[in-house]
Amino acid sequence: MDFRRIVRDRREGRAHSAADLEILANGAADGSLGDDVLSAWLMAACLRPLTPDETAALTLAMARSGDRLDLSAIPRPWVDKHSTGGVGDKTTLVLLPLLAACGLTMVKMSGRGLGITGGTVDKLESIPGFRTDLAPEEMIRQAGEIGLALSGQTPRLAPADGRLYALRDATATVDSLPLIVASILSKKIAGGAETVVLDVKCGSGAFMPDLAAARELAGALKDVGERAGLTVRTAITDMDTPLGGACGNAIEVAEAVAVLREENLSPVVARFRDLCVDLADVALEAVGRPPEAAARLADGSAWERAVRWIAAQGGDLERFAPEPAPVVRHVLAPEDGTIARIDARAVGEAVVALGGGRRRKSDPVDPRVGVTVLRGVGERVSRGEPVLEIRSASDDVPGLSVEMGEASMRSARLE
Ligand code: URA
Repeated sequence: MDFRRIVRDRREGRAHSAADLEILANGAADGSLGDDVLSAWLMAACLRPLTPDETAALTLAMARSGDRLDLSAIPRPWVDKHSTGGVGDKTTLVLLPLLAACGLTMVKMSGRGLGITGGTVDKLESIPGFRTDLAPEEMIRQAGEIGLALSGQTPRLAPADGRLYALRDATATVDSLPLIVASILSKKIAGGAETVVLDVKCGSGAFMPDLAAARELAGALKDVGERAGLTVRTAITDMDTPLGGACGNAIEVAEAVAVLREENLSPVVARFRDLCVDLADVALEAVGRPPEAAARLADGSAWERAVRWIAAQGGDLERFAPEPAPVVRHVLAPEDGTIARIDARAVGEAVVALGGGRRRKSDPVDPRVGVTVLRGVGERVSRGEPVLEIRSASDDVPGLSVEMGEASMRSARLE
């Protein structure tokens, strides 16, 4: 088979058949197609975007390019969640045990952080002993026993995406909507879920900078996901300001623990907690269950499930405490008044500069460092009051500022 015919078809705007897309996905996964032809196809697909039908066919072909987790031995409903990523987004750490406590089976693959977007795997690895390298069989067994399992990406699931994503990165073809949709959904399907909640972040710290772009992505994810046989719910949520207080690794885990334990929360952290309850109730609605997320937090069952989860993956909560960073600095309110803006992108870039995020995939992360938003948008503060806390490994502390003006604290869910 000469793949150049498929490249030419894309370049000249002729439709791909499902069989063409199967050849593409399998050739990407098994290495029989070279970087040259795949890169040429990616550029052509960027210039002539796939139709929804083609995107659904590509999604299924990519999902079938490796193993698919077979969850048939464990109770339904099988649910997954995905966030398009942002700053301080620790939602998975709360949603997984919370929804498991509601009786859902949660099996999830998560990534590491890259650029200003944090990664759940990095965050969880700040718990001593926590394993994020579960084999597919271990994930299934654990999810059967305690209702949830989370692992880092494995090359066995949707290997076509691993190859195509790396080439997209190298060829400036990441931001093609159909390619993004196929990439996200193929991994969800390979992970075994039947129902997915997709949290599309919107704002300065997100992939999608404005509501129009976020709506387009959310709509395409829902449409293609449903064509591919999934039950899909989408939410568009704010990423103009960081989510919750903590932005880093260990400090985000500590914040998720505070939410799961129903501790006294600052308004900034309560806003994050409310989003978790909201998204959990969206998942419950999707599988025909009543909204009970707040009750499962209040009665301690979500926390109890989190304790079992962390132990099952080898984590030692007794030894977990965010290690103090050598240098702690504060950003103070410049005047009396209301906080109008704390830019998520600036905070995310500061976390990367501190060593809490990575510029390249191979960079290590320092779990101790980060930025905590103490007082959020819409809160009244007095001049000189600490608004941001910066934990740094050295005296080289990035500058951050706070804008004052008219604003009220908005719910993190936009739509
Ligand atoms: N996240 C993914 O998994 N894939 C993309 O293409 C973009 C974001």
